[in-house]
Amino acid sequence: MTANPGTTHTTSSDGGAVVVEITDLRKSFGSVEVLTNITASIRQGEVVCVIGPSGSGKSTLLRCINLLEQPSGGTVLVDGIDVTDPDCDIDRVRSRMGMVFQQFNLFSHLTVLENCTMAQQVVHKRSKAEAEKVARANLDKVGLADRADAFPAQLSGGQQQRVAIARALSMDPELMLFDEPTSALDPELVGDVLAVMRRLASEGMTMIVVTHEMAFAREVADRVIFMDGGVIVEDGHPDRVIGDPQHHRTRTFLKRVL
Ligand code: ADP
Ligand code: MG
Repeated sequence: MTANPGTTHTTSSDGGAVVVEITDLRKSFGSVEVLTNITASIRQGEVVCVIGPSGSGKSTLLRCINLLEQPSGGTVLVDGIDVTDPDCDIDRVRSRMGMVFQQFNLFSHLTVLENCTMAQQVVHKRSKAEAEKVARANLDKVGLADRADAFPAQLSGGQQQRVAIARALSMDPELMLFDEPTSALDPELVGDVLAVMRRLASEGMTMIVVTHEMAFAREVADRVIFMDGGVIVEDGHPDRVIGDPQHHRTRTFLKRVL
């Protein structure tokens, strides 16, 4: 485990419980292997940013963690539970993970508040009043308490993404997965979303963030994983992976994005 001096993140990543343990993970689509022997672990309170070129397998890796994709080999343990075991209660495991996508996937016919209460009522069996209380607290956290009764189409992309984050948080996740959460946003809307994520990180949320925002990764991540061609090329402190990369593939990638 890498020490994390110099980050703004106050929760120690050393010695915390392992939340996600990925061992020799492989994923093929047909005859094409897109993930090859991925091994990595994420501890409680850690913020891990995953970077790498398009097509390197970043989204597939996230999707194998919550079983939106079925791995072809290896194991993924979430809180010690093997999600690849056919007998595992994947709904229960998934209910502990919040996922935020590039496209916000809000229900357009529901209000902001309803978007944030529905899954709580269905999955956690919360009463409407209880779910609304949780949702309002999380909308407040993302700076949208006053937009609870709006419909998604009345919001900017950045606001919609913050609603998607509030919706995920309302399920009380132990782990948040983000797949390029700011890539679909106009540049002037990116900052507000990153600010919400930065705050979540400082509060100790365990987060895996696929992103092209190198400044965010450098500042907020405890660790950066660089993927290329379905393998992890480098995994370490951001000052090393972004600041002083050891592999030419990492350097080539960073030259293109920085
Ligand atoms: P990234 O998120 O890093 O851009 P992806 O994980 O989306 O990469 O994709 C990795 C590779 O897997 C790409 O070559 C992509 O075309 C392929 N791939 C992803 N999903 C599928 C799928 N459902 N069927 C076939 N190939 C896929
Ligand atoms: Mg992707």
